[in-house]
Parts: sequence; C-alpha cells; structure tokens
Amino acid sequence: MTNIGKYLDSLTAKMEEKNAGQTEYLQAIHEFLPTIAPYLEKNPAIVESNVLEILLEPERIVQFRVPWQDDKGDWKVNRGFRIQYNSALGPYKGGLRLHPTVTESVLKFLAFEQIFKNSLTGLPIGGGKGGSDFDPKGKSDPEIMRFCQSFMTELQKYIGPDVDVPAGDIGVGGREIGYLFGQYKRLNGHHSGVLTGKPLSYWGSLARTEATGYGLVYYVKHLLNDQNDSFEGKKVVVSGSGNVAIYAIQKAQELGATAITCSDSSGYVYDPDGIDLTLLKEVKEVKRERLSAYAAERPNATYFEGKSVWSYSDAYDIALPCATQNEISAEYAEVLVKSGAKIVAEGANMPSTLDAVAIFEKNGVVYCPGKAANAGGVAVSALEMAQNSQRLPWTFEKVDSELDAIMKRIYEACRDTAKDYATEGDLLSGANIAGFAKVAEAMISQGLV
Ligand code: GLU
Repeated sequence: MTNIGKYLDSLTAKMEEKNAGQTEYLQAIHEFLPTIAPYLEKNPAIVESNVLEILLEPERIVQFRVPWQDDKGDWKVNRGFRIQYNSALGPYKGGLRLHPTVTESVLKFLAFEQIFKNSLTGLPIGGGKGGSDFDPKGKSDPEIMRFCQSFMTELQKYIGPDVDVPAGDIGVGGREIGYLFGQYKRLNGHHSGVLTGKPLSYWGSLARTEATGYGLVYYVKHLLNDQNDSFEGKKVVVSGSGNVAIYAIQKAQELGATAITCSDSSGYVYDPDGIDLTLLKEVKEVKRERLSAYAAERPNATYFEGKSVWSYSDAYDIALPCATQNEISAEYAEVLVKSGAKIVAEGANMPSTLDAVAIFEKNGVVYCPGKAANAGGVAVSALEMAQNSQRLPWTFEKVDSELDAIMKRIYEACRDTAKDYATEGDLLSGANIAGFAKVAEAMISQGLV
C-alpha cells in the first residue's frame, strides 16, 4: 500500500472513532476519502499540511431547544441544529431540513457534501446545513408558524447575510422561509440577504423554486450532449414529488423526454402518458394530499401503495432520484441496471448507498453524484444573495441562463478532473477532487483556520 493509502486509512479509522454511531456522516466520509487519493498522490504538499484532517472537523455545531405550542395549547419540544462546517470560500450556506429523521449525523453528512457542492458552483459560499427532527406532516399552518418562530428565535443568534445564510430543504419551502424570515426581521430588522428561497415579494429570486430540478436536467443535458445524444424520446424514472422532482420532470418533458413516475412516502405512481404536472402540483402543493389522489384522476396511471419507485423494472433510460438519502439500495440498483438505465443523476443528497454506486460503476451506468448534479439550487441561492446585495432583481431568463451555464461548468469540471486524475467518466471522483482542491487551497492560504 502506498503512503497515501496508509494516510487515508488512518484518517478513516480516526473519523470512525471520533464519530462512532453517526452512520450517514461516516457513509459520506467513506464515499469521499478514497476518491481523492489520486489528487493527494500528485499534491504531497496538501498531505503534509494536514488540511484534510482539519477540514474533516466541522468549524462549529450549534444545537438548541425548540419549544412550541400545538393547537390544543400543549407544549412540545424538538431539537434544532445548525452545522457551520466550512467557511473557507464564503459565508456558510445550505438548507434547513424539517423531518423526523433529522439527527446530528444526517446534518453533518449534508453539511459535508454541501462544502464540495458549493465549491463546485464557483460562487463564494461555504458549507453548512441545519434543521430539526420536527415533523411538519399533519401539522396545521399556525403550528408550523409557531415552530418556525421558535426555531428562528434561537437560530438568529448565529446567522446573518455575511455569516451564514440558510435556505430550504426537505420540509422547508416558501411558507416556512416566510415565517422564519418574519421572525428574524422582528428581532434584527429587515435583512433581505439572511435567507434564500424567499418569496418574490421580499427579494426572492425568480427561478429559485425551479433551480434544483432544472439544474439537474441541465447537468444531464450537457452529459448527453457529450455523447451526441439528448433527452428527446427518453423514458425517465423520477422519485419524489417535492420541489426538486416537480421541476426536474417539467424540464425533462420540455426537452422531449417522458417522465413516467414520481413517488411520496406512501408509494409511487406509474403514468405511461407522462406525469401531468398541473395535476401533480395541485395534489402535492395545493391540497397537500397523497399520490393516490393523482392516480385516481389519470386514465392510465397506476398507484403502487407502499412500494419504492426503484422496484419499477420495465425498460427506461435515465433515473433521477429526487426523494431522500439511501433510497437506492444495492438491491434496487440491480433492478435499475436490468431496466437498461444508462444514467443515474441525483436530485436528492446521497440517495444511492455505497453498494449501489459500486453496482452502477461495475455495470457502466454513468453516475452523477448529487453534490454536482443537484448544485443548481444552491447556485441560484448564491445568485439570490448577489441580487440582494445589488438591491436589483434579475429576470427569470437571466437567472435561468446563468443556471444552465453554471451546470455546464460543473459538469465539465467533473468530466475534466476525472480525466486528469482518475478514470475517464468517473464523475464522482471528478466532483470530489474538483470540489475539494479549491477548499483545501483556500484553507491553506488562510493559515488553516
Ligand atoms: N437544500 C439545498 C441543497 O441541498 C439548497 C441549499 C441552499 O440553497 O442554500 O443544496
């Protein structure tokens, strides 16, 4: 074994010991460390500086109590977090997730991934993430509001337009950002740049809602372009039915593909005629109902109660996992390979397990990791910050064309870095190396602080 191999092994062992039991976080570390070995081989100064070990320690983790009152007047309590992982490239930037599965480990993996994702955008943003184990499902609007106000009462002590700029993630959309913003404003005055994903009336950015889904499809468009191919006539399997899935479906269909599935926590829908977006938005965003309500309205759609979309086994071309972490296990990866899919592009963060990724690689499926393919959301968040600083709104077309250009640059950085350091087509190594190199250089230049 080379010295780099030994160095990485000992670092991995140290991380396992320091973060024992944090499975999601350790999964992200296990995925990341081996891929940067070829870069470290060629850059011994990076190893000598020990920047890697320093980077692997979050700069700050804030944990706080979030008491709130339900509609019956009973007091409840949840746990809130903000992981301020790395500020070498700019203020901490990353979403807030409200979901019962939120733990320190989940947020650490998300914040860790966010560092490299944000670095890949080429925009001045560091990496962070936050959220709570609060479950928004079944809560009334006033309950959501009281929770958000209580959450922000603590969080506001640690954030600011040049310090840390949260946004949405699972369970946090325009409504929640509005309540969070209102509470921040009450305590600190109107600072438009403190959150992104804001509604348009107070300095949100056009195309921010669409950005992650559109960006995902743009990334794949540039990949297909390299293969002299396009979305035209492709069958696309999508999981999820939130913001990311909805706009990925819309853009893929606009480019000539048919998106035949979407899913929620209760099951999935197969619609051979292509997902009807007006109906999907009505069911999920207006009525906040389950997908069975979608299937009931469509002539040829079938609803599979309690089934994962990744059990879908007929032929298709492109998989866009847009639901949540670890939704594609090794078993589902095998089904996906047999279905003939040639590309997996992640709209969600870490939706494929390590074993699933190995199966894609072994079978020649091009794997586009979330930290590159879903970077469009945070990229447009950074454009929202730019508009807020300028005090000028940009048009939809301007933001959308910037997004497309950013996704092209990210794709090319992954492709070219893979060619330079690893194996051609290994977009995961390409993303990790390109994202890491910039952060490591910045940290060294700043005196490793
Ligand atoms: N939650 C999104 C992500 O995973 C967006 C974060 C942001 O806009 O700050 O990248």
